[in-house]
Amino acid sequence: MKNNDIRIKNISDKKDQLYEVDLDNLPELPYPYHDWEDPPVEEIQESKREKYDSSLDGFLNLQVKKPKTDEEKEKYVAGFLTGLKRLLTKEENWTFLKPFMLSLDNCVKCNTCSEACPIFESSGRAEVYRPLFRSDTLRRIIRKYLKPGGKLTAKFTGADIDLNWETVARLAQLSYRCTLCRRCAQTCPMGVDNGLITREIRKLFSMELGISPQELHGDGTLKQLSTGSSTGITPPALMDLMEFAEEDLKDRTGLDIKIPFDKPGADILLIHNAGEFLSWPENLEAFAILFEIAGLNWTLSSEMVGYDSVNYGLFYDDAQYARVTIKHAEVAKKLGVKKVVVGECGHAHKAIMAIGDRIWMGESNIPRESGMVTMEDLIVNEKVMFDPERNDFPVTLHDPCNMARSMGIIKPQREILKKICPQFREMTPHGVHNYCCGGGSGFAIMQSNNFPAWKYMISGRKKFAQILNAFTKDELDPSVNKYICAPCSNCKGQIRDLLNYYDAYERCRFLYGGLVELIINAMVDVREGFIEWDDFH
Ligand code: SF4
Ligand code: SF4
Repeated sequence: MKNNDIRIKNISDKKDQLYEVDLDNLPELPYPYHDWEDPPVEEIQESKREKYDSSLDGFLNLQVKKPKTDEEKEKYVAGFLTGLKRLLTKEENWTFLKPFMLSLDNCVKCNTCSEACPIFESSGRAEVYRPLFRSDTLRRIIRKYLKPGGKLTAKFTGADIDLNWETVARLAQLSYRCTLCRRCAQTCPMGVDNGLITREIRKLFSMELGISPQELHGDGTLKQLSTGSSTGITPPALMDLMEFAEEDLKDRTGLDIKIPFDKPGADILLIHNAGEFLSWPENLEAFAILFEIAGLNWTLSSEMVGYDSVNYGLFYDDAQYARVTIKHAEVAKKLGVKKVVVGECGHAHKAIMAIGDRIWMGESNIPRESGMVTMEDLIVNEKVMFDPERNDFPVTLHDPCNMARSMGIIKPQREILKKICPQFREMTPHGVHNYCCGGGSGFAIMQSNNFPAWKYMISGRKKFAQILNAFTKDELDPSVNKYICAPCSNCKGQIRDLLNYYDAYERCRFLYGGLVELIINAMVDVREGFIEWDDFH
C-alpha cells in the first residue's frame, strides 16, 4: 500500500506488510552528502520472518512470536485488552495514570507534533510513523472496546478500528518506532505527551504479555540484576578493569591515580553507565583525574548494580525500573555518601534524578546531582587550571534528550565548553529543541536483525544532518580534526555507529566523545594530548 493511502484503520489489515520504507523519499542530507544513497535494507532471515511478526514495516527489533492457532491469536488480543484496562486504573497504574489520561483525552488533532517528530520527518513523512498514528490507534481501541456502547457508536465516534491479532502486533512494533525523545510533547499546544503514550504501550506489552526487546530485558535488566551490570561485568571483573584503567591513565598522562572504591561516608558516590568501562574507559579515567586533582572526596561502588547507572526499565516497564533504582538507592544509603553524582548518561540522569523521586524516599532520599553541574562548579569557578588553547579545534555539542529536554539541564555543559573550547559552536536547533541522536529509548543497543539500518537511515538522520550543519565546508574537510561532544554513553554509541554507517570518519574526520575528556585535554596539570585523534573506536 502506498504511504499516502495508509489510514489508521489499515493497521488491522490482514497482509504480510503494511508499509515499506521508500528509500527514494528520504530527505536529502547536507554537504558533503548530497549524493548519498542509502544501501538497500536487508531482508530479515526467512526463519525469523516465519517465527516473528514484522508486518508493520519489515523491520524487526521487538520479537513478537506469531501465534499458530486462532485460539492463540484470541488469547493475545484478550491479554492486550486486560492490560489496557489495567493501564487505565489508579490501582494498577499509580505511576503514570494522570499524565497518561491527560494525553489520551486532550488531543485536538492539530498535528503540530508531527512537524516536531524527527522520525516522521526523516522517513519522508511516512503516515505510520506520524505520532498520532500510534496514539490514535490506542484511543480508538479504548473508545470502541472499553467504553460502554463503544462498538455500537463506533461509526459515529470515528473509532473505525478492528482489534485483531494484526492490530495488536503492529501496535507493539509501533511502540518501538519512537525514541521517546518527547520533542512532540514540547510543541503540543495541549500538553499531550506522545512519548509517554508510547512508553505506556511498551509497558502494557512488557508487564501484561511479557513482550519486550531482548536487548532491554533479558540482556539488559535481568543481566544487570544477576551479574551486577547490563554489560555482564561482575564485581571481580570490575576490579580487574579498574586496574587496567589505572595503568592506561598512567600511560596517557603520567599520573599515578588510584580509583577509589566503597569509601564509607564519601561526599560523592559517582555512578557511571558501565558501557564506559568497556567502550570508552577514557571517560571514567577523565572523571578520576578531574575529581582527584580538584581534591574531591569521592568514590565508586563495587556492590552489585552500584557501579552501573543503566536502568532500561525506564524505557519499557515500571516494575523492572523499580527493581534497579531500588538497588541504586540501597547502595548509596549503605555507603552513607552525602550525594550521588550521575556521570555522562542521559537516561541514567532521568532514572536516578527525576523518576527516582517516586522511589528514593524517606531515608533513601539521598541528594542526587548531574555530573554536568559538578563539573560546571569546578570549571566555572576555576577550581582546576586549564588552557583553552589546547582545545583549539571545532567542537559542537549534542544535547541528550533525557538530560536536556526532560530535565532542563542545558546551561552547565555550555558554560564549561565556553570556558575551555575557543571554537565551540551550537548545533541548530539545540538545548530543549535539540534532535535525538536516534538511539534513544534503548535503540542505541539494538543491533540485531535489520533494525540498525532503520536507526541510521531514519531515527538518526536528523542528528547526522545537524552534525554536518554545525561545521563549515572547510571544516568538514578530512584534514581538519573536529569533535562532537556527546555527554551520554548511549548517545555516544549511536553517534559512533552513525559515523560508521555514513563513513564519516573517512569523509569528514569527526571524533566523538564525552565532555569530561575535553576538560582533561585542557587541564594544565595533565600532560598534553589526552584526546587521541587517531584512536577512533
Ligand atoms: S500537537 Fe498535541 S494536540 Fe496537536 S495533534 Fe499532536 S498530540 Fe494532538
Ligand atoms: S517522542 Fe520523539 S520520536 Fe516519539 S513521537 Fe514524539 S517526537 Fe516522535
